[in-house]
Amino acid sequence: MNNFAIWRVEVGDGAAAPRVDQLALGLRRHLGVSGLLSITVRIADRQQSYVGLVGCGGCARARCLPGCLTEALRRTLCAAYGPSAALLRVQTGLSQRPYRRMSRLRPVAGASPVPLDAAILAPWNEARLELVWTPHPLQRTTLLTSTLYLGAEGPDPVEALAGQGWQIVGAPLRRAPAPRPSLPLLALGRTAFAGAPFLPLAASLPSPRAEAR
Ligand SMILES: [Zn+2]
Repeated sequence: MNNFAIWRVEVGDGAAAPRVDQLALGLRRHLGVSGLLSITVRIADRQQSYVGLVGCGGCARARCLPGCLTEALRRTLCAAYGPSAALLRVQTGLSQRPYRRMSRLRPVAGASPVPLDAAILAPWNEARLELVWTPHPLQRTTLLTSTLYLGAEGPDPVEALAGQGWQIVGAPLRRAPAPRPSLPLLALGRTAFAGAPFLPLAASLPSPRAEAR
């Protein structure tokens, strides 16, 4: 896909509560014209968040063209998290991790949709939450595919997610396919999400030892 890139998201140490209204406003604008991939990775006690989106020909040189969605998302993050929020381009892609389980998630039926928090990954040493947001062609909702990848260790996700407004769809796959960060035109397993769009962002760490990937 032209100008698709993965960016690491830095939002400070999480000391100040984000302005979720500003985040939702910016994301709604984005999703009105394009899709958005969000990835939150947990390795041991570290978490790191990424986004994948189609930007412009100037993104790689930090010279975005007018109307670039990467630049718009950067402004949205600053409006929500403060001026230190940043998008840092991931040049080499995300490395493969030893995932053994894969599950789809969706909001619990009948309940008001609540955002997924990055903290839901806390029970596992190897975990990855991928959200693929796609614009809904007809309605004022967005379509969302939520996929949880887990290593062999750690609790059953059905139990770990209980009471958090989200549920596992079907039985988890015991042989998880390797995640391929992309923005597919037709994401499998997507459902309408009627709530405000969100990003499950992990608080930034002062000095990442290596790209969490
Ligand atoms: Zn750009």
